[in-house]
Amino acid sequence: MSRYWSELVAGLEPYVPGEQPQDTSFIKLNTNESPYPPSPAVAEIVHGFAADELRRYPDPESRELVAALADYHGVDRDEVFVGNGSDEVLAHAFLGLLQKPAPIRFPDISYSFYPVYCALYRIAFEAIALDSRLRVDVDAFCEPCGGVVLPNPNAPTGIALGLDALRRLLAAQRDVAVIVDEAYVDFGADSAVGLIGEFDNLLVVRTFSKSRSLAGLRLGYALGQAQLIEGLQRVKNSFNSYPIDRIACAAGVAAIGDEAYFRACRERIVASRERLAGELARLGFEVCPSHANFLFARHASAAAGEIYTGLRSAGILVRHFDQPRIDDYLRISIGSDADCDALIAVLEKILS
Ligand SMILES: *Cc1c(COP(=O)(O)O)cnc(C)c1O
Repeated sequence: MSRYWSELVAGLEPYVPGEQPQDTSFIKLNTNESPYPPSPAVAEIVHGFAADELRRYPDPESRELVAALADYHGVDRDEVFVGNGSDEVLAHAFLGLLQKPAPIRFPDISYSFYPVYCALYRIAFEAIALDSRLRVDVDAFCEPCGGVVLPNPNAPTGIALGLDALRRLLAAQRDVAVIVDEAYVDFGADSAVGLIGEFDNLLVVRTFSKSRSLAGLRLGYALGQAQLIEGLQRVKNSFNSYPIDRIACAAGVAAIGDEAYFRACRERIVASRERLAGELARLGFEVCPSHANFLFARHASAAAGEIYTGLRSAGILVRHFDQPRIDDYLRISIGSDADCDALIAVLEKILS
């Protein structure tokens, strides 16, 4: 605390990301990173990058990357916004689209960055309770409000909504923006991208961090009708003209171009997820039906905090949220099959 801080900063409770230990010997199943490297096409860009190019600022509009994403998703170029990680894209969307007189809505158990952006931009919100099985009750999000943010699949539960439910929500909220955060959609949920033409209030937010194994590159994007995208650009151009550096732009284009590799990684992770879910059930865990690259599970008798600590001392990191309603759950990122096997072996010891 310093007397030089603004009142706003003094009152913030910043987001705390999952641990990134310097000690690389941990099996990291705590931040939903990919266990697989990015596409070899990305490695080629990074290794071959001419450092001399870094003398110059990058293209402020990242046109090459925007064009690659527009072609990939079958939308127009003015329907794509790119940012330095989807966290930045979300932050711009909160400021640009959700700072309204009426409180916005998001689930009470959801991505914990949302309330942090609300505090930063002084946006009032109502956290809408998930039902007893931790599912999103879409009807509760259809009531009049200042806007909606919904991860699909939700985090940290991994549970996905179908497109019918999203369509109902979008139709009920015609007058305000609805942001669908699709950080995990590639692992098996239905994307709302196909609804963009039908709904001018829909903004879909995506990231390269999970399904494209590029958390370290910091690339995210949003898709929506041109007027929503222009709102984000107005925020971006009032904040940082060059959020995407030259290396990230070129590597992002290369990643989007390697569809075969992307699909292969995704399929491996989905297969490992299904296998791990079965093993956890065998060990007495109740596992939420996941469409993401993580599982959210609680044990019938053992306390989550103790399992977390036991795993940690055996060199395995998972995430435990010490927060009401979910403090008996663990969120476990899907690693390689070897990582999953190591996890199961340690759990068998802890639980016996
Ligand atoms: C990981 C995650 C993000 C942020 O991803 P970055 O692109 O790495 O900033 C956004 N939303 C949800 C729900 C996430 O889990």
